Amino acid sequence: VIVGGGIAGVSTAGSLRSGGFDGDLTLVDVGDFPYDRPPLSKDFLAGTKDIKQIALQPSQWYDDQRIRLVNRTAVTALRPREARVELADGTLLPADRVVLATGGRAARPPIPGIGSERVHVLRTAGDADRLRTALVPGAAVLVVGAGLIGAEVASTALQLGCEVTLVDPLAAPLEPVLGPELAGWLHDLHTGKGVTTVRAAVESFTDRGEHIEVRFRGRSGEWSYAVVVVGVGMVPQTALAEQAGLEVGRGIVVDSGQVTSNPAVLAVGDPARTRREARAEHWEAAQHDGARAAATLLGSDAPAPTAPWFWTDRHGRHVEAVGHMEWADRTVVRGSFDDPAFSVFGLRDGHVVAAAAVDDSTAVRAARRMIDRRVPADAGRLTDLSVNLRSLLRG
Ligand SMILES: Cc1cc2nc3c(=O)[nH]c(=O)nc-3n(C[C@H](O)[C@H](O)[C@H](O)COP(=O)(O)OP(=O)(O)OC[C@H]3O[C@@H](n4cnc5c(N)ncnc54)[C@H](O)[C@@H]3O)c2cc1C
Repeated sequence: VIVGGGIAGVSTAGSLRSGGFDGDLTLVDVGDFPYDRPPLSKDFLAGTKDIKQIALQPSQWYDDQRIRLVNRTAVTALRPREARVELADGTLLPADRVVLATGGRAARPPIPGIGSERVHVLRTAGDADRLRTALVPGAAVLVVGAGLIGAEVASTALQLGCEVTLVDPLAAPLEPVLGPELAGWLHDLHTGKGVTTVRAAVESFTDRGEHIEVRFRGRSGEWSYAVVVVGVGMVPQTALAEQAGLEVGRGIVVDSGQVTSNPAVLAVGDPARTRREARAEHWEAAQHDGARAAATLLGSDAPAPTAPWFWTDRHGRHVEAVGHMEWADRTVVRGSFDDPAFSVFGLRDGHVVAAAAVDDSTAVRAARRMIDRRVPADAGRLTDLSVNLRSLLRG
């Protein structure tokens, strides 16, 4: 039984079948059907894609793969000793192995007034539907948190004709993952496009019925908005794991094969983390977890590890990043910040350890291969636009 129909759960199910698993496979999810989350702050929020267009798989796929899909139902307890799981209506499902793919919920920090109906978060399609209804042209919108999701919501709200303010205490959010130059450039993009940026933390919200008043720490006065969106991260769904006595600490602790402290239970995606690493919280990492969990269950070789990768879109710019920018001791730029596309490579000891690019997926793909294969890198050739990056893969 797989608990949770996000990309991690669906990837586990698909990888089990493609790897030759022939047993019973049940996927339980609380939603109407498994859908993808990245569009919730992009096309789906903008209204250019509907819920059917963001389904992770067509319904026929589950039949073809002999995956029993149990929708609109939560798993409420794991009973690994009885080899069963319990559903919300009390049904017990046989489960020789359980894969926890429960994702997370949007964080709601303890700011006074955060319970107001005018304060939104964004994690589910329902959240996105409610938010879209509020994002009417001309509405004054405050987005709290300028990380990945906050920045995307600010961009989409602007596209929908709202007057957008983006508040974050950091000068260049995302600096650890993108490096200071690119993080600063991306944050400045907001102002260039017409978003008002404020560097502060939110102190309180006061719902005045027609609008909501917001106080920023260290600033006097109150600012008035029609809509607030809080995008300050996610909280992993670990309740089932805790209840079942599994090891949990900043996520469900797993080994390199996604196995939890109970050998009959695996965990994948946003809530899972190995003892040595933080939770990834990115789409591709969740997908890879599913493939690794399936390999563990099948006793087959796990897919080769690869450098972590994510993408984000804002103000019409496509951003990708790979590797660990925080490991770099210097960065070099290929192209110019004044004229995207461009890419930033993070180097250490003569090797690429990270890259981040605007509108340049090819550079990030090449960097990923260099990182994975530990190809020695020459800064001069990396930044020479006449050099084809693919030629550098030979070292
Ligand atoms: C708005 C938004 C935009 C994003 N954009 C990007 C992006 O541009 N790039 C990127 O790399 N990543 C992005 N991400 C992150 C990415 O979507 C997540 O990392 C990914 O969805 C994690 O997948 P998951 O399967 O682990 O969890 P989830 O997608 O959260 O799926 C978990 C599922 O489990 C279900 N569930 C939980 N508990 C139970 C239970 N007890 N019983 C039954 N079902 C249960 C939940 O309802 C949910 O459907 C974005 C995330 C959000 C929210």
